Amino acid sequence: PEAPEDLRFEAEVTRILDIVVNALYSEKEIFLRELISNASDACDRLRYQALTEPHLTEGDADFRVELEIDKAARTLTVRDNGIGMNRDDLIANLGTIARSGTGEFLKRLSGDSKADISLIGQFGVGFYSAFMVAGRIEVLTRKAGEDQAWQWASQGDGRFTVGPAGKPARGTEITLHLKEGEDEFLEAQRLRHIVKTYSDHIAIPVVLKAAAEPPREGEDAPTDETLNTASALWTRPKSEITEEQYKEFYHHVAHGFDDPWHTLHLKAEGAIEYTALLFVPGTKPFDLFQPERKPHVKLYVNRVFITDDCEGLLPPYLRFMRGVVDSPDLPLNISREMLQNNPVLAKIRTGLVGRILSDLKKRAEDKEAYATFWAAFGAVLKEGLYEDFAKRDEILDLCRFRTTNGSGLASLAEVAGRLKEGQKAIYYLTGDDPEALMQSPQIEGFKAKGIEVLLLTDPIDEFWVSSVGTYKEHPIKSVAQAGKDLSEIKGEAADEAEEKAEEAPEDKIAGLIGVMKTALGEAVKEVRASERLRESPVCLSSDMDGMSLHLQRLLKAHNA
Ligand code: ADP
Ligand code: MG
Repeated sequence: PEAPEDLRFEAEVTRILDIVVNALYSEKEIFLRELISNASDACDRLRYQALTEPHLTEGDADFRVELEIDKAARTLTVRDNGIGMNRDDLIANLGTIARSGTGEFLKRLSGDSKADISLIGQFGVGFYSAFMVAGRIEVLTRKAGEDQAWQWASQGDGRFTVGPAGKPARGTEITLHLKEGEDEFLEAQRLRHIVKTYSDHIAIPVVLKAAAEPPREGEDAPTDETLNTASALWTRPKSEITEEQYKEFYHHVAHGFDDPWHTLHLKAEGAIEYTALLFVPGTKPFDLFQPERKPHVKLYVNRVFITDDCEGLLPPYLRFMRGVVDSPDLPLNISREMLQNNPVLAKIRTGLVGRILSDLKKRAEDKEAYATFWAAFGAVLKEGLYEDFAKRDEILDLCRFRTTNGSGLASLAEVAGRLKEGQKAIYYLTGDDPEALMQSPQIEGFKAKGIEVLLLTDPIDEFWVSSVGTYKEHPIKSVAQAGKDLSEIKGEAADEAEEKAEEAPEDKIAGLIGVMKTALGEAVKEVRASERLRESPVCLSSDMDGMSLHLQRLLKAHNA
């Protein structure tokens, strides 16, 4: 047979492996959850492909994951009969980190091992985590529908080999040569416990193969043993699912290592049936602001995995959601393209959006917990303000803002409840940094009168404020658009007196403006007297109906 090729890991993999191997988790056993999770994904993918190419699973349609212990050789093997990998797959999947957000992740690695470990915890290293316990890993695999099998091997030292190999059945077999001191993973009892803890929700059986050695006297002959419940978690009744099980399922579907911030498990019955098990992640994923705005909820039809990037399932402004949706009312042989305009899917989407928003509303009652959610996903949710007209008011009520009133977050309802006498509009100021905005001369007049101003610092804010326009009967206005409003609002008493005393005669102001106009010439469109200033003599302001200064800066930064 051909000799295997010697290849190098992508530099990123080597860096991550270094951290993984040297310092990683206190819970080393999570490597097994990663390998079982991959095996289950591989079976899901083949089951989908076999919908249109049934010959791929002929003769072996019962998907499963097998664990095999060899005490003499000190190896643990994780085997699946899933889709398998060919040479190119092996190099692409087990030589690089293709996951979106890798670049961002690496940039954040600080070199301080404590901080890095918690960061890796969030990012997840999947397959590579097996190098925590193994000094050498061999992957023997054959892709469904192909004749040639391949072996990948590495000691986790920056290099790996790939070469042709023999394997009669499709699927993947991963053999871990355990490091010194890791013998606990050769104990059936230990594996039983790990699988129960982390992988019970896996929908296919995880089977511990019977020990190869003959039974001792008086013992029964060993038999294969299924370690997990082996039914899809979302199909089980809520009352039978523990918090821990939900959490582990989240780790599996979301490839996330944090805890979910919110869990939503619902069964819709009626005209259209579906089950959804959805999560709001506890931390912000790295790829939230990629231009594709991809959804991450997996679609199943009658427990058969269809796709994990179904565009129509949730709107882009809910793309932070993770989890699964399963419906028997979609055709099994539906192609990913056909899903785009499917009316059943549209109804499921409407139902899900309604439930998610109403759950968020409930969770918003706990201000502190909601602030965590808002910090991570508020900027995404606000996209719904101009993308989902039907839900605009509901989303607006879920929005929270920094304001000139203090450091906490306020809802529009709260701000509207604090309007001053004579104040009709809700005012905002946009910029990059709330602290800097607090000092802006643009709001001196507002602060002096005690008028609350929203401090908007997400790039998206410029877009929704202009499209939303009003909250209840209150116009939402930029402070620059306040015009003569300020004089109509009754501020705090002290300020009223001051205002009277400082009023300058009209003709003097007109003269001063004339001088300034001549001096500035083309550089400005207009020079105006303003009620907005208190301490500062002048400030730059945008045209009443032109683009705001902040938006102009944003567009400039993006070369628009
Ligand atoms: P992730 O699962 O998050 O994609 P992993 O590091 O766990 O990351 O796995 C990397 C990739 O390797 C997977 O996306 C998959 O394409 C491939 N892979 C891993 N294990 C298997 C397996 N048992 N069968 C087929 N492909 C696999
Ligand atoms: Mg994985």
